[in-house]
Amino acid sequence: MFVIFLGLPGAGKGTQAARLASQTGLVHVTTGEIFRENIRNETDLGKKAKPFVESGRLVPDEITIGMLLDRISQPDCADGCLLDGFPRNTSQAAALDEALSAQGRAIDKVVYIKVDEEELVRRLAGRWSCPGCGAVYHETSEPPKEAGICDSCSSKLRQREDDRPEIVVTRLKVNMEQLQPMLDFYRAQNKVSEVDGARDAEVITDALKEIIAG
Ligand code: AMP
Repeated sequence: MFVIFLGLPGAGKGTQAARLASQTGLVHVTTGEIFRENIRNETDLGKKAKPFVESGRLVPDEITIGMLLDRISQPDCADGCLLDGFPRNTSQAAALDEALSAQGRAIDKVVYIKVDEEELVRRLAGRWSCPGCGAVYHETSEPPKEAGICDSCSSKLRQREDDRPEIVVTRLKVNMEQLQPMLDFYRAQNKVSEVDGARDAEVITDALKEIIAG
């Protein structure tokens, strides 16, 4: 089963995809994390992606589409995956459809996690991530037990470069422009379910599980 998580930055796509992956056994594929890992390891891909990621712009399709198709052709995605952060525009969506259909596969479901803009800015500004295990915290709504330290692996938490307020504005703008055409693209295929992302994480996970099972 291939499930796409759509939503603006901060909507909870990553958190929810990770929760569902651990509860369903489906692989969680997240393009933002693949880019960040390549940037940390200073690979060729990381060097190409870095200026885009750090300024909140989309990495060009010529780089992103190949990378994603390569990732989902790995054996662990043979039965599908949860896609978080891809597609980000209709060209990526069309390229993904084409590649899957060439293999006799298709996207099964698209879930749109909807959260209003004011709440997204609040979430992104207070978000702290663990460079060790990828856990995500929020300084007021989901703080770690000890300030600045990851509950799971004790690494020192840090704020993502692109969660700084001046970059958040660009990221939201870029992503908002692309979201509606993508929703239209998948609505024309009757694949979109909408979920209110302003509720507690557990309630949203249950709603998503129902959609995926249905
Ligand atoms: P995210 O963690 O999903 O917010 O992604 C962080 C950054 O990685 C984005 O702001 C983009 O620079 C880049 N990125 C992630 N996914 C994509 C994608 N599908 N297309 C282009 N750029 C992407």
